[in-house]
Amino acid sequence: MEIIDTHAHLNFPQFHSDLEEVIGRSWNAGLTAVINVGTDLTTSQESINLASRYTNIYATVGLHPHYADDWENQLDGLKQIARQPKVVAIGEIGLDYFRNLAAHGNQIAAFTAQLKLALQLEKPIILHCRDAYTEILTLLETEYIPHLKGRIPGIIHSFAAGPAYAQRFLKLGFYIGLNNMVTYSADTSLQESVKLIPLDRIVLETDCPYLPPVHLKGGKSEPMHVVDVARKIAEIKEVDIEVVGSATSHNAKEVFSINA
Ligand SMILES: [Zn+2]
Repeated sequence: MEIIDTHAHLNFPQFHSDLEEVIGRSWNAGLTAVINVGTDLTTSQESINLASRYTNIYATVGLHPHYADDWENQLDGLKQIARQPKVVAIGEIGLDYFRNLAAHGNQIAAFTAQLKLALQLEKPIILHCRDAYTEILTLLETEYIPHLKGRIPGIIHSFAAGPAYAQRFLKLGFYIGLNNMVTYSADTSLQESVKLIPLDRIVLETDCPYLPPVHLKGGKSEPMHVVDVARKIAEIKEVDIEVVGSATSHNAKEVFSINA
């Protein structure tokens, strides 16, 4: 089965002792590509370094809203490294009004500056959004979508909202990133969203080392667990897992312009 993890953090310390084994298991599980996502200047550079060592690992560059208070110190560096050849997106960027680790004003400033960068470089974005769906949609509608000239806007990563928000992101042209939260059965509004989002607009992800599948809860996730996401989506949509794997891989290749 063909399958792609569109959101991993293999450079995080949780993988320092077993990175090679984890990557080996990914290819054995059938993964054809892994997108490793940056969260600040350091981790974005680490993602690029990792991507330079593996043909099928790609990098993204961005400042996560948690670190937005430092955006003025990091933006120039991010702009420079974002032009490297294996950088396939700007992300993860967005707003996090749930943990509120950075001032809202800085989150908005960092986010809009990086939307501009993505437009300049003609790269898609990977969005992180918690408790700020309305605010983020407003910013996208005014600062980003009108300037795309028909290009694919990007991915709303770790989508966890109900059908109404799913519809709004789909209408703007976004792909929806689903991870093992879909296996946490308590979340029925998310499962309603999964029913509604067409397969040609879903991409799969793990967000590893976070969000392990339900049977490993409390442990650490890794890219091969993207297969658990595919299995659950197949079950909800009543199709074969291979259909989910190949449709979502096709989508990922479209969004990131890669030939994995
Ligand atoms: Zn992430």
